[in-house]
Amino acid sequence: MKGYVHIYTGNGKGKTTAALGLAIRAAGAGYKVFIAQFIKMGEFSEIKALKRFSDLITVEQFGLGRFVKGRPSPEDIEAAQKGLAKIKSILSSGEYRIVIMEEANVAAKLELFSVQDLLDIISVKPKEIELVITGRGADPRIIEKADLVTEMKEIKHYYQKGVPARVGIEK
Ligand code: ATP
Ligand code: MG
Repeated sequence: MKGYVHIYTGNGKGKTTAALGLAIRAAGAGYKVFIAQFIKMGEFSEIKALKRFSDLITVEQFGLGRFVKGRPSPEDIEAAQKGLAKIKSILSSGEYRIVIMEEANVAAKLELFSVQDLLDIISVKPKEIELVITGRGADPRIIEKADLVTEMKEIKHYYQKGVPARVGIEK
């Protein structure tokens, strides 16, 4: 079966949860899923939940868990580069049917790796693998190469009223 390239972007809520939903659905079909979380670090509720599916879903984090402001540090870049290398080896291993690069759009925007690095991943992807890239601000060059692009459009978000990310709902 042919695999496609998905992008979940935009300012509204739902990018990460859409990717996680797809991971659960794929696992239900018996597919193996690899999730790389860029930028982020920490035992978010989804990481805890996905441990129940550890035979099929693998999650690895390649961020330092701090918001990268201005120029990223060498450690931020190193962590993201590690993730990129891991994704390449995961793609070539053929072990996983679904590969998710969480917040990779943001990592590219912060120049933890280049847009060209992401384009290279898309072009080396074996044709049967489904690749999902999430995060706000997807680069137009990535959008052009993708097969499916969904923009989560913020109509309203309680974040604007000062509601912080809540355990079990946003993290
Ligand atoms: P979810 O993980 O709930 O599916 P998402 O992946 O679409 O959401 P991100 O862009 O990853 O959302 O946002 C991470 C966090 O940033 C949110 O949990 C929220 O606390 C915060 N945030 C700030 N501004 C916004 C906004 N306009 N919309 C959504 N989240 C926002
Ligand atoms: Mg997210």
